[in-house]
Amino acid sequence: MSNQVPLHEGLFTWPAAKPQLLGSRCNQCAEATFPAQPDCRSCGSRQTTIVELGDRGILWTWTIQTFMPKQPYRSDETPETFRPYGVGYVEMPGGVRVEARLQANSPDQLQIGMPMQLDIIPFRTDKNGNQKMTFSFSAAQGV
Ligand SMILES: [Zn+2]
Repeated sequence: MSNQVPLHEGLFTWPAAKPQLLGSRCNQCAEATFPAQPDCRSCGSRQTTIVELGDRGILWTWTIQTFMPKQPYRSDETPETFRPYGVGYVEMPGGVRVEARLQANSPDQLQIGMPMQLDIIPFRTDKNGNQKMTFSFSAAQGV
């Protein structure tokens, strides 16, 4: 029986019918951060609150990863099965820029300013047979 568990805790709501990215917001200056931080990078306050950043954003910049990243990148991929993928920064409502893997892997599928949606996808399977889930973005549907 395989379970779907987050690759890292606290990055997105899971399990959820409509997962949301999680970040933190400073109680003093309202600066939002992803991933969530206990301290505010902007004003140094130690008062931050976990907030949902949403599941839609705008592609701010992107590139295509054409070779296998070095360790500690751990997926089920090998140099033989590796396929290029997009990496980008997605600007969420409120202005937080989130670095994320993109489902698109070809430059003609990606355009700065395009609407993106959050997808929770399997990253690898651990030794207990659990599917480790991570987040990525793809072109938003139905906008
Ligand atoms: Zn602050």
